[in-house]
Amino acid sequence: MLNGVRTIDELELAGKYVFMRVDFNVPMKDGKVNDRTRIEAAMQSILHAMNAGAKVVLGTHLGRPKGKPNLAFSLEPVAHTVAEYLPSHEIVLSDDCIGDGARKVIRDLRDGQVALLENLRFHPGESTNDIAFARELSTDMQVYINDAFGVCHREHASICALPSLIDQKGAGFLLAKELHALDKLRQPDIARPYVAVLGGAKVSDKIGILEMLLQSVDAILIGGAMANTFLCAQGHQLGYSRIEEDKLALARSILDKAKERGVEVLLPSDVRVSKSLESTEFEEVSVNRVPADSYALDIGADTCARYRERLRRALSVFWNGPMGLFENPAFAEGTKAVARAIAESPGFTVVGGGDSVAAVEQTGLAKRFGHVSTGGGASLVYLERGKLPGVEALKS
Ligand code: ADP
Ligand code: MG
Repeated sequence: MLNGVRTIDELELAGKYVFMRVDFNVPMKDGKVNDRTRIEAAMQSILHAMNAGAKVVLGTHLGRPKGKPNLAFSLEPVAHTVAEYLPSHEIVLSDDCIGDGARKVIRDLRDGQVALLENLRFHPGESTNDIAFARELSTDMQVYINDAFGVCHREHASICALPSLIDQKGAGFLLAKELHALDKLRQPDIARPYVAVLGGAKVSDKIGILEMLLQSVDAILIGGAMANTFLCAQGHQLGYSRIEEDKLALARSILDKAKERGVEVLLPSDVRVSKSLESTEFEEVSVNRVPADSYALDIGADTCARYRERLRRALSVFWNGPMGLFENPAFAEGTKAVARAIAESPGFTVVGGGDSVAAVEQTGLAKRFGHVSTGGGASLVYLERGKLPGVEALKS
């Protein structure tokens, strides 16, 4: 049991029809799976259910086909990748996730076999949490397992309505691992100093998590475009840099609240600036000296050193959001420096967020993090609220 939710190893699976919601929403390129991290992450639960003698029915979405069938979002390439992990098994892909085709595929399963249902989002009922659609998915199903952490913050039919129709339900190994890691950061007796690193595109995306972190962390290090808004709020002129003008008052109030609570907030002291986002030419300047015709696109060397020093002493670290426009290698240095500093930290370290995790994977340092979350939005929502709709739905 984990927070009132049963885990897959506590469920009776032998001979049962098991609907397993997985998150195979993987990046695709030229009709092929471009990154199989999420598929690999679900294999432990799939193999466990197979070995336990279940008839395993996998359900997932892929992309945003907007509620109708669209070959560009077919799970065919995903089925091939799944098959590579199960060389001695045949993986059947149903042509639709509900209806006669799906029924036939499911009823043909023998104990220990696996089928994959076609994209759940080919039906509008998935995203609207439609109970009638969920009822169709639930036909024949005796056990429901959620191992799709990345989607648990969404009230979708396969995440919320479906488990309400099945008595036996629980969390897969991946979901349990994610919740366990994030729970550690929510403990009142968390190892301190607890340092958060926040970056990325917008203050507005992260305001909830920022306010939550102010209640628990000892220090917040801010980078990325988010830092620009804070620097601007402090009166710095940042040229063409990306700034949320309507969030300046909010940024000021966050800085005031941090001061009241005794939370240290570190902002960049220098930035890497350029005249264009695509350029490989740049200079590093103090935040007081950003040229009027330039963009601040990364934190500077001075800032990297200050942040590294603060992270070196941290015993718990949470990181979300790149420190710069890391897609351009000229502006990836700050993100890489932070990734290295966190990887070297002796404490418990967690990184969450789609782009942040991609950046960590690029550095090859992922294995040196305590936990790399497979869910961006979901990890932020869980950290902030301690609850996710998809997890609540597993409590009976
Ligand atoms: P995550 O997906 O990890 O939550 P976000 O989506 O919030 O992160 O932010 C990532 C995006 O922010 C990246 O595309 C990155 O290029 C952009 N970004 C970060 N710093 C800057 C900056 N200084 N100027 C422009 N864009 C930036
Ligand atoms: Mg992102």
